[in-house]
Amino acid sequence: MARPRTPKGRARRTHERLIEEYPEAKCELDHHNPFELLTATILSAQATDVGVNKVTPALFARYPTPQALAEADIAEVEVVIGSLGLFRSKAKNIVGMAQLLLEDYDGEVPHTMKELVRLPGVGRKTANVVRSVALGEPGLPVDTHVTRLSHLLELTEETDAVKIETALNPMIPAAQRGEFSLRLILHGRRVCGARKPRCWECVLNDFCPSSTA
Ligand code: SF4
Repeated sequence: MARPRTPKGRARRTHERLIEEYPEAKCELDHHNPFELLTATILSAQATDVGVNKVTPALFARYPTPQALAEADIAEVEVVIGSLGLFRSKAKNIVGMAQLLLEDYDGEVPHTMKELVRLPGVGRKTANVVRSVALGEPGLPVDTHVTRLSHLLELTEETDAVKIETALNPMIPAAQRGEFSLRLILHGRRVCGARKPRCWECVLNDFCPSSTA
């Protein structure tokens, strides 16, 4: 098969190969509805998904709805999520998020980027996770793995997350953007690590411009 010569061609070929490699790409934050995913994603800043999954069962048992969380005592929320970094600001943010959901959106998680990034603790990355995983909307979350692989695969030279998202969006069909991001993240964790990319076992090594294999 000919090597793809354009960034868009490499992005498409990358996703085709990663679909075969990781057919079940799933968000690793445990959740049952958009409100729980939004909460878990806010908590995941500078924390591992495993760490977040350890605190959310107790958190959602105690505060199962936006209403319950909006009325919570922040000090009590801090105790429940106290094993996570930045737990004080995160407790304040998730209670504030729940209050704004009730005040402005009838307790529902809104769908648009503009509405989501109004919520405390929610930036574009979190909004894109919630949009693509829980709301059925296009969204391409850009994290450190997506940034690194986009550079190694020479999909874009941009370094700002919003500019990377803008550059990648037209390369991937809207309905596949969330899964593309999830698969790049999985590949970054398992094969193309920041310290030592394992090019010799990478399924992208025949066309990746940075391959050392
Ligand atoms: S070939 Fe190497 S640098 Fe390229 S994506 Fe694979 S592991 Fe990363």
